[in-house]
Amino acid sequence: MTDRATALTQTFIDDLQGRSPGEEAWIDAVEAIARDVLTVEKANAAFAAARVLERLAEPDRVIAFRVTWRDDAGRVQINRGWRVQQSNLLGPYKGGLRWHPGTTLPVLKSLAFEQVFKNALTGLPLGGAKGGADFDPRGRSPAEIERFAMAFMAQLAPDIGPDRDVPAGDMGVGARELGLLSRAWMSHARSWGGALTGKPLCLGGSPLRVEATGYGLVYFLCVMLEAAGEGIEGRRIALSGRGNVALHAARKVRGMGGKVIALSSRAGVWHAPDGMWGDSIDWLAEATGEDATDPPGRLGLDFLAGQKPWSLEPGIALPCATQHELDEDDARALIDGGCRFVAEGANMPLTPGAARALERAGIVAAPGKAANAGGVAVSGLEMRQNAGFARWTAAHVDTDLRHIMRRLHDRVANEGRATDSAGKGCAVDYRRGANLAAYRRLARAVVDGGAL
Ligand code: GLU
Repeated sequence: MTDRATALTQTFIDDLQGRSPGEEAWIDAVEAIARDVLTVEKANAAFAAARVLERLAEPDRVIAFRVTWRDDAGRVQINRGWRVQQSNLLGPYKGGLRWHPGTTLPVLKSLAFEQVFKNALTGLPLGGAKGGADFDPRGRSPAEIERFAMAFMAQLAPDIGPDRDVPAGDMGVGARELGLLSRAWMSHARSWGGALTGKPLCLGGSPLRVEATGYGLVYFLCVMLEAAGEGIEGRRIALSGRGNVALHAARKVRGMGGKVIALSSRAGVWHAPDGMWGDSIDWLAEATGEDATDPPGRLGLDFLAGQKPWSLEPGIALPCATQHELDEDDARALIDGGCRFVAEGANMPLTPGAARALERAGIVAAPGKAANAGGVAVSGLEMRQNAGFARWTAAHVDTDLRHIMRRLHDRVANEGRATDSAGKGCAVDYRRGANLAAYRRLARAVVDGGAL
C-alpha cells in the first residue's frame, strides 16, 4: 500500500472506530476494502463529493428482532434475529441468512458490506444484504427447526419480497430450511414464492443452486489458472470444510481432473495423498459423529485428528469452511509447502495477517467476493426464473454459471492487472482487482442516484 493510501485509510477508519465501539468485525471488513479504493475515490471529484465509500459502509437499515419459540419439551426459547439491508443501489437487497450461535450484528454487518461488493461483481441486478440469528440448529429436531423457522419468518416477512429483499441460505440454512421459510413467507404475504432463493426445486428453486457456490469456485479457479498459463489437471488441491461448498467444489475438482488431497471439519482432516475417489467424497458427505473420524479402509482416507489441511503441501488451497479459519501460521505452512494459488470458497476465511503473509510471498489469492460468487449468481438466475414463471434445465444454468464466472474473473483480473504498481505483467492482484471493479460499478450508481 502506498503512503497516501495508508494515511487516507487510517483517517477514515479512526473516524469509524470512534463512532462504533465493539464493532471490530465490521470495521475490519470496511478497512480491507478502504485501503484499495480510497485513493481512487479521492482522485475522482464526483466520487469524492458523493463520499461513496462512507455511504456504502453504512447499511441502508438494520432490522433487529426477537424470535420466541417452543422447544420439544415445551420450554420457551428466545433468540436474536437480524437483517442488515446494506444497499439496494444495483437491485433488490440480496444475501444469505445464517443460523449459527456465533452470529452477532457486527459480523452480519461485515458480511452484508462484503456482499454488496460480491453481488456487484456478478454483473447481475443484485443489491446486498445479510441476516440470520444466534440460533444453533445442531442437535435440534426437525419439529424444532420448523417452529424456529416459522417464528423467524413471522418477524422478517414484512421486510422482504421479490423486488424488495430476497434472502437465501448461508451457514445453518440449507434447502430444507429455505423451503420452510419460503412457505412461511407465502402464507404471510398471500403471494407465491420468489422472496427467497435456494428453495427446493418443487417450491420454485433453481436447478444447480445447491451446487452453485462450489462449482462456481472451481470454474473461477480454472480461469485463474488459465490466466497464469497453467491448468487444473493433476494438481494437488486441499479444501477445508465438508459442508455444501467444500463437497461440491471437491466433486467438481475431481470432475475436472484435479486431485482432492484433503477435506476437513473442526475435528480434523481427511487426507488422501493421491487424491480422493468419488466414493470417499460421497461417504464424507454422509458420515456423522464418531463414525466420520474412522473411515473404512477401502476408501484410502487417513483421518488426522486436530489438524488443518494447510500443512499437507497442496499446490492449491481452497478454504471453504468459515471466516478467519486460516491464520498466519497456516499461511506460513502453505508458503513453506509450495502452495501457489488460493481461492476462497468461504466468506472472508483468511485473517488479515494471513492475507498479508500470502501477498508478501507472491501467492495468487482470489477473495471470496470473486471466487465464491457463483452461489449468489445462481440465486440471481433463480430470481429471473421466478419472475418469468420459468424453469430452466440444469445444463442451461450450468452454462450461464460458467459464463458468469469467466466474465467476473476477467473484470477482476483487468482491474488487478491494470493497477499493478510495477506496471509490468506480473501476477494479477485479485483482491485489489475485485475491490476496485465492484467499487467502480457501485460508485457510478451512487453518483447517478444523487444525494439520497
Ligand atoms: N450466502 C451466500 C453468499 O454468501 C449466498 C447468498 C445468496 O444467494 O443470496 O453469497
